[in-house]
Amino acid sequence: MTGYAQKIYEIVNNSRNHMRAEQVFHELKKSCPRVVLATVYNNLNKLCDAGLIRRIATDGEPDRYDRISKHDHLVCKRCGKLADICFDDLTAHLQKQMDGALLSYDLRVYYLCPQCRAQESGASKTPGDKI
Ligand SMILES: [Zn+2]
Ligand SMILES: [Zn+2]
Repeated sequence: MTGYAQKIYEIVNNSRNHMRAEQVFHELKKSCPRVVLATVYNNLNKLCDAGLIRRIATDGEPDRYDRISKHDHLVCKRCGKLADICFDDLTAHLQKQMDGALLSYDLRVYYLCPQCRAQESGASKTPGDKI
């Protein structure tokens, strides 16, 4: 790993904020003021290809980057914010129902984050609405 890749890996791996490339860039600049955004993109792609970090694509949002350790995500339907959530490992359960080898799964649970819920219940008269 080059110096930049190593640093980028550490930034992503230590963050719980699901950073976008620009945020990683901003963070890296603190220790490497001469780095350019293209370098950050390149290294993020390489780290993803190497399976050292993962990319999270959300509809209509820039890709975010996250540590690889197994966890799943809550996605706010309203503001797109991501939060980590841990389920019991479903691998065995899923494997039983399929006719093939399970490689991996990536769960997305959509919800309203506490901030959006607070705004919504202030504005709407039907808090029981299904999403
Ligand atoms: Zn929200
Ligand atoms: Zn995460």
